Amino acid sequence: MNSFTNYVYILSGALFILSLKWMNTPVTARRGVKAGELGMVLAIAGTLLNHHNHWEWILGAFLIGSAVGVPIAYLMPMTAVPQRTALSHACGALAAAVVGTAEYYQRQPHGFVMVALVLETLLGYLTFTGSLMAMGKLQEVLPQRPLTYRNQNLINFLLFAVAAGIGVRLIFVPSDTFLFPIFAGLALVFGVLLIIPIGGADMPTVIALLNSYAGLSACAMGFALDNHLLVIAGALDGSSGLILSIIMCKAMNRSFTNVLFGAFGQVQAAALAHEQRHYRSASAEEAASILEAASSVIVVPGYGLAVAQAQHKIRELSDSLAARGIDVKFAIHPVAGRMPGHMNVLLAEAEIPYDKLVEMDEINGEFAQCDVALVIGANDVTNPAARTDKSSPIFGMPILDVDRARSVMVIKRSMNPGFAGIDNELYYMDKTLMLFGDAKAFVAEILKDLPIRVG
Ligand code: NAP
Repeated sequence: MNSFTNYVYILSGALFILSLKWMNTPVTARRGVKAGELGMVLAIAGTLLNHHNHWEWILGAFLIGSAVGVPIAYLMPMTAVPQRTALSHACGALAAAVVGTAEYYQRQPHGFVMVALVLETLLGYLTFTGSLMAMGKLQEVLPQRPLTYRNQNLINFLLFAVAAGIGVRLIFVPSDTFLFPIFAGLALVFGVLLIIPIGGADMPTVIALLNSYAGLSACAMGFALDNHLLVIAGALDGSSGLILSIIMCKAMNRSFTNVLFGAFGQVQAAALAHEQRHYRSASAEEAASILEAASSVIVVPGYGLAVAQAQHKIRELSDSLAARGIDVKFAIHPVAGRMPGHMNVLLAEAEIPYDKLVEMDEINGEFAQCDVALVIGANDVTNPAARTDKSSPIFGMPILDVDRARSVMVIKRSMNPGFAGIDNELYYMDKTLMLFGDAKAFVAEILKDLPIRVG
């Protein structure tokens, strides 16, 4: 590798690290995205410089990739980002696996490089099919419920053990080329079998884990190709994916093994058979006068806000209440919505000041002193059953203590359950008013009913 390319790679690696650091808080997140993009452009430029004999291949791949990627980025709604992410992991993992396969047939490397190549292709192929399955479940083209059968974990383990065993054989005897297609085929099948017993509810966590596998595969590819930048970028991707999935597991009070082998979501249908229970509902006009009379309001956004794209209307409502001297804050649950940081991204898009967004642990102590908790399209993350009902599938999940507010108003379209498929005790409390309607339309109605302030 020429030394200029190496310098470009070091710069690019540094930009990737800074990008992750900046993406840590909403204030610097945009800068983080730009740094990551610049790092990637430099990585491509550095590779072009190093392989200037074959630049037309790199340019061709760049153009085809952009022709597919750019429309996907613009056309897919933000609520579909988890499945889009799964698709990009599938593509990344397939790329690593295919490069590894080509390397194997061209060079049949020995020793350490062969170890890296076996890891690269094993992780690459299984992540490819696993991510496609995850995408299918999230997009609901595949059944969301866990598909289980007897001795499933044992069968999966054996299959993986056979694939790994063949991989070890290939490391010692790389010339056994007939084994490679069997090895790749088993990895592909394992990817499918690994994901089908996991319910749709756990797919976002699984995607973070698959992200980690794709990163590790790219890191192994870096060792196989002796490309330092791939090692750095793959290691960053591998570790950040793992950290993210651990954070998500914690926020849902689930263990890794429970997510991967627990077949969560299997028994939830039973919980759906809800009996007729009493609840109170109110109109937008009534809601407006309750809000007007409050001195502190905590808005609790959730998935429904994202579906309705109500963030701008909520900004207007919060501005209008603040203009009346009412203290308005937003309570952010780490897994509200369908991807980590979903609510931060939405509210930042509507330019709601960051200091108004308060994380769960910090805001929970404030609900007891708050006049109105206004829940907008959030459900599971407010369900007190997580604290009290040991039989609930979400028992132990940290929640926003909305039920401790002096009064609660919930905007949603019906009494239907949220992601976990279970009823929410919050809706039946005496202090709760249900505001039925689409989040955006209902907030617009409230705004209309708030008396206009002059001056
Ligand atoms: P949720 O429990 O899924 O509930 C969302 C609610 O929004 C639904 O009950 C729905 O009720 C309502 N809704 C849908 N469309 C609406 C619209 N247009 N207008 C108004 N309301 C609408 O959402 P959440 O409280 O945000 O909880 C997130 C769930 O996702 C948790 O169970 C969490 O564990 C899971 N999860 C999240 C992540 C993540 O990274 N964020 C990852 C994995 C799993 P109606 O149908 O009655 O309107």
